[in-house]
Amino acid sequence: MKTINHYVGGREWAGSSTATQDVMNPSTGTVQAQVRLASTADVQEAINNARVAQPEWAALNPQKRMRVLMEWIRLINEHMDELATALSLEHGKTFADAQGDVQRGLEVVEVSLGAPHFLKGEFSDSVGTGVDTYSMRQPLGVVAGITPFNFPAMIPLWKAGPALAAGNAFILKPSERDPSVPLKLAELFTAAGGPDGVFNVVHGDKQAVDALLDSEVIQAIGFVGSTPIAQYIYTRCAETGKRAQCFGGAKNHMLILPDANLDEVADALVGAAYGSAGERCMAISVAVPVGEETATALRAKLVERIEGLKVGHCLDPDADYGPLVAASAVERVRSYIDAGVEAGAELVVDGRERGATDSNFQGEDLSGGYYLAPTLFDHVTPEMSIYTDEIFGPVLTIVHAESIDEALRLPTEHAYGNGVSIFTRNGGAARDIAQRIQVGMVGINVPIPVPIAYHTFGGWKASGFGDLNQHGPDAFRFYTKTKTVTSRWTRDDAAITPHSGSHFVMPVVD
Ligand code: NAD
Repeated sequence: MKTINHYVGGREWAGSSTATQDVMNPSTGTVQAQVRLASTADVQEAINNARVAQPEWAALNPQKRMRVLMEWIRLINEHMDELATALSLEHGKTFADAQGDVQRGLEVVEVSLGAPHFLKGEFSDSVGTGVDTYSMRQPLGVVAGITPFNFPAMIPLWKAGPALAAGNAFILKPSERDPSVPLKLAELFTAAGGPDGVFNVVHGDKQAVDALLDSEVIQAIGFVGSTPIAQYIYTRCAETGKRAQCFGGAKNHMLILPDANLDEVADALVGAAYGSAGERCMAISVAVPVGEETATALRAKLVERIEGLKVGHCLDPDADYGPLVAASAVERVRSYIDAGVEAGAELVVDGRERGATDSNFQGEDLSGGYYLAPTLFDHVTPEMSIYTDEIFGPVLTIVHAESIDEALRLPTEHAYGNGVSIFTRNGGAARDIAQRIQVGMVGINVPIPVPIAYHTFGGWKASGFGDLNQHGPDAFRFYTKTKTVTSRWTRDDAAITPHSGSHFVMPVVD
């Protein structure tokens, strides 16, 4: 059986730990590889390699660093199908969706080619007699990214692209569930001319994460995953003086105003709720139709579309979505569906008990895989766990609102604050909601409002901890520190300061 190694010092590396974990193929429910789980000493070895390699990488002139990144982008594109296939087989998302995963990551690396511009400091001349002030952005040193299973290419690239472009050495601790693509990305970085030790990958669980948190060398950690772990990492980083940005779970609402085109809404909603089996942090899991008429008409259109959805093997080109990532994920989602029924929500479409012969299932025998048919709940209320909690599966809930204000209050008062989508033909109403709503990202007639790479991505409240977002200009702020120089040169440089004795009061501008 294949063993997936770490990547340290510019090569695959087994490390000293003998601990491993199964890597599943969720489409078949079979073990396809073993991934190594790093010990504390293994993580320290990666950190040492990064620390040795970083100064030279940072000292390269920025355009030379960008040439390495350009070649890296070219190689990732060249290996797109190989990467997307490996990603599909370990995650379970469809091949086309896996290509999107790699592509959305690449876009951030592409924008990172603008690093020389982002790294330019500011300059103010003659702030005093012969005195100029200028600032520069310098890399932090060795930084780390800890990433989730649901975007094993995109999120590692969101972290690595800006961190490397800014002159840091980077250690990636990807999800142990789908480790092949992160490893391949590191290999391609070396093939692109990236110096050994600048980009390292350590696989592992809590022990590996704690080794990164405990290290005095690691200067910053970019985390993406569930909220409890985001909070843990944020707190530990504060204790050890590390910079941290930690993005957590979500419960994204779509507000459907009475004037919206409901066919468009139903199409958008079905894709945003069930695509990737609902395992997206920007998936829509709550639909909020405004007014009873809107709710009734929307529900009928959703049911019609849900009946036609095809769930199948990740490499089946006709599948709309594939399996969930793990058997435990299916169990968790099922238990939420049970809880919703118990709490009194109306189960309109029940994804729990359908066998592989159900019309939603596509292709050959799927009995071994972690499949779950789409589920739809109506008449969900805010105290139910299917509303308060992130389910992270193919479950859409409908919460009724009588007015726009009531609809707006739901996501605003929810503990999570990642994204909201608004569907309407009324620009004024959409604008007003976008202004007042308490979430980090808003889509207007756009179901999954993941911002383009040169803007920033980040949720509010329990969806994000830290003050700088991912990608866009914030990423360069996060991965660099500012140094401000105040210099004084007189016309006669030899006499920098004409001797005038010591001064004991705070210098101020006259
Ligand atoms: P997770 O929190 O289980 O794991 C994320 C990372 O943390 C992994 O690398 C994992 O190995 C590590 N980890 C897990 N348990 C740990 C522990 N006890 N101590 C230290 N480290 C630990 O998340 P996941 O299941 O891989 O990903 C799904 C979650 O990620 C969902 O909640 C989803 O909403 C969230 N997510 C958020 C965003 C965002 O930008 N807000 C994006 C993608 C995914």
